This record gives sequence, C-alpha cells and structure tokens, in this order.
Amino acid sequence: MTLAALRHWVFDMDGTLTIAVHDFAAIRRALDIPADDDILHHLAALPAEQAAPKRAWLLEHERELAYAARPAPGALELVHALRERGCRLGVLTRNAHELALVTLQALGLGDCFVPEDILGRDEAPPKPHPGGLLKLAERWGVEPGALVMVGDYRFDLECARAAGAQGVLVNLPDNPWPELTEWHARDCAALLAQLG
Ligand SMILES: [Mg+2]
Repeated sequence: MTLAALRHWVFDMDGTLTIAVHDFAAIRRALDIPADDDILHHLAALPAEQAAPKRAWLLEHERELAYAARPAPGALELVHALRERGCRLGVLTRNAHELALVTLQALGLGDCFVPEDILGRDEAPPKPHPGGLLKLAERWGVEPGALVMVGDYRFDLECARAAGAQGVLVNLPDNPWPELTEWHARDCAALLAQLG
C-alpha cells in the first residue's frame, strides 16, 4: 500500500493544519477540570446546568483562537495538492463545527472542504472513537480502509486504527507511537514530498 494511491483524506485540524495554540492545561484550570481528565468527556459527564456555562466558555475561548489561526508548515500546499489530484477531503476535529469553518477560512482553506465533510464534536463522537471516520466513509461510499487520517496526536492514530483507516502522524520530529502507525512525516510539507 502506498499513501499516494489513496484518494480519501481526512485531517485533524488543530495542530495538524494549524500551528498548535491550545493550552489544554490552562483550559482545564479555567474550567476546574482535573489535570488527567479528557476535557470533552468531563463536560459530557456533568449535569446539564453545570456543563452549559463551561461549554459556552470553551466555545468563546476557542473562537478567539480560531480567528487567529496560522497554517502549519506545508499544510496549505498539501491540501491544495490533494484537491488538485481530485481527492475527497474531510476534517475530523474535537473542536466545534462553526469554529472549524472560521479556522479553515482564516488559514485560506475555506473553499477546500465541503461543509458537510467537516465533522466537529457535535457531528461525531470525539476521537479516539472511530465514529467520525466511519461516517465520512459511508458518506463517500468507500470502505474505511480507503481513508487516510492525518493528525498530530495519539487520538488521531487510535481513531484511524479503530476504523481500519490509515493513520499518518505529522508535526512531530519522531514517531512516539510506532505501535499505532508506520506512517510518519515531520510536517505536511514532508508528507507531500513523500507522496511524490
Ligand atoms: Mg490535533
């Protein structure tokens, strides 16, 4: 299998297409979430009246980050190259759908993705759950094994593995999770170069 032969590409957004800016430790402190807890799972387990103001705070915090988003090295070139090759492109993010639209617009990728192919935390269960990838595979009429999931974190690779898709790790100098994927590129520019 070569990645270049695959034509259905799904991207994580924050830290993959963007330069990572989320300070998750600060977010946990602001929302009184224990340091070891998953933020989205923690909010999901709270009673609605406690969760609502915290969700609202998180959305506003992430909105400021979205408008200031900057592209990761090679991200624009990779997405544009895949689009020119006729690949189907999607985004699977733990961020909110409306902020994904803002972020992609700020990056200059606003016209590269069909809005329905951008799945946020309200359209799919949060990664590492494979539900978002399975949903895109069904939408696109392909087997999950035909999908590439590009991301910068373990959750992206675990999500890909659970779906039966090909996970690609980017934006780390080395691959700390070789048990999850053999595909690794220093950044999106290196990944594009690997595609030839
Ligand atoms: Mg990420």
